Amino acid sequence: MLNRQPIFAAIRQQIASCADAGGRFAVMMLRARGLHEISLRFGYEQGEQAGEKAHELIAKSLRPIDRVFRAGDDSYVMVLPDMLSRNHVLLASARLAQAFEQPWAGADSPWQLRAVMGVALYPEHGLDADLLCRRAGMALDEAQHRREPCVVYQPHDTQVEIFYEELREAIEANRLQVFFQPVHDLQVDRIAGIESLARWTSPRHGDVSPASFVPFSEQSDLISVLTRWSINATLRHAAPLCEAHGLSFAINLSPQVFSRPGVVEQFMGALDIWGVAPTAVIAEITETALANDLELSVQVLRRLRDLGVRIAIDDFGTGYASIAYLRRFPATELKIDQSLVGTMRDDPHTSRLVSAIINMAHHMDLTTIAEGIEDQATQDLLTGMGCDFGQGYHLGRPEPAADFVSRFNASMATP
Ligand code: C2E
Ligand code: MG
Ligand code: MG
Repeated sequence: MLNRQPIFAAIRQQIASCADAGGRFAVMMLRARGLHEISLRFGYEQGEQAGEKAHELIAKSLRPIDRVFRAGDDSYVMVLPDMLSRNHVLLASARLAQAFEQPWAGADSPWQLRAVMGVALYPEHGLDADLLCRRAGMALDEAQHRREPCVVYQPHDTQVEIFYEELREAIEANRLQVFFQPVHDLQVDRIAGIESLARWTSPRHGDVSPASFVPFSEQSDLISVLTRWSINATLRHAAPLCEAHGLSFAINLSPQVFSRPGVVEQFMGALDIWGVAPTAVIAEITETALANDLELSVQVLRRLRDLGVRIAIDDFGTGYASIAYLRRFPATELKIDQSLVGTMRDDPHTSRLVSAIINMAHHMDLTTIAEGIEDQATQDLLTGMGCDFGQGYHLGRPEPAADFVSRFNASMATP
């Protein structure tokens, strides 16, 4: 929790003096990695001492005009006046990173601390204390994610600020869109199904990728709202395709919803209402998301599979799925990640790896789907390796569900 009062007061003071003189300043958030572990290993008193030493170390590395505040258990906020350019900020952060690299004389422990920093600049990244602190915090998250010592906030970075109320309202008002991307049977070269992908165009942020708003939703109860919307919106377009043409459809599910009571009944109830056979549905779960609560996910997915729903491990090859984990997981399909598929054409090593994954999957009675096929050569390679299904820009880009359905129906009508 941010120790807000004194930090906000110092930032407001800077804002007031910049308003008069037109200057710039930086708000930096620093996390001392390892501080928490000192408390756990050596006791809270030692942890506290180390925290105070880190505070002194930061203050010593900065200028006398800079202010340092303890912001939480292992974090600090600095207000740095007169930061005329990003280079000034990067110099300060380099000094801090270096100070933490010195042998840690802070406590009677051999523990090494490391500084990770995020920075927001006044006025370009915010005009009030709250926004500046939040954006410094977002830059800090980004630095941790990228494993870099310091990141300066970037408004158009992958880190899109999505505001809870705005997204909730968009979902509830049905302003998200469903896109369909075709999945081809590679062995007979025809469309066998579709994958449903959510799209959001926000009036404030423009097109926001699901790679941003899905993980954001997963951190709150929004993921349940999004999942319910996604199931219903997909079924509305997909149910007639399943019935008329025997297509299957895949839907992405976040394991975060599995802890909600009645989730299986809700899913099956929706299929029932739309008259879709469970065997026509593939629930896709990303490999990395599973690591969080494997036991619970396995239980829920096993129930779905026993009711006939097919279960795909999405993005296989990017996470850490071990063989033991694959054995326990009730999957029926394996989706090979596009990072492998996209490089296999030019890299024989990756190509052999993909071939081995396909063989392994088949030995385990799993159907294989390659995602991210962008050219004919890659498609031919995968077909030759016996891969069952494929998906990618070369076979068809995601498009609004209604457009896909009318085009598909028209193509079926013409002989
Ligand atoms: P995913 O399930 O692995 O979906 C495949 C992603 O790859 C999609 O990105 C798709 O547009 C993109 N793609 C397809 N073919 C190609 C290709 O040939 N080349 C390249 N470079 N990319 C290709 P998208 O739509 O941005 O979705 C990102 C992720 O967001 C999805 O990855 C999925 O995990 C998640 N997602 C999307 N919609 C939903 C949803 O309604 N609910 C949940 N829980 N997750 C969703
Ligand atoms: Mg998927
Ligand atoms: Mg994928």
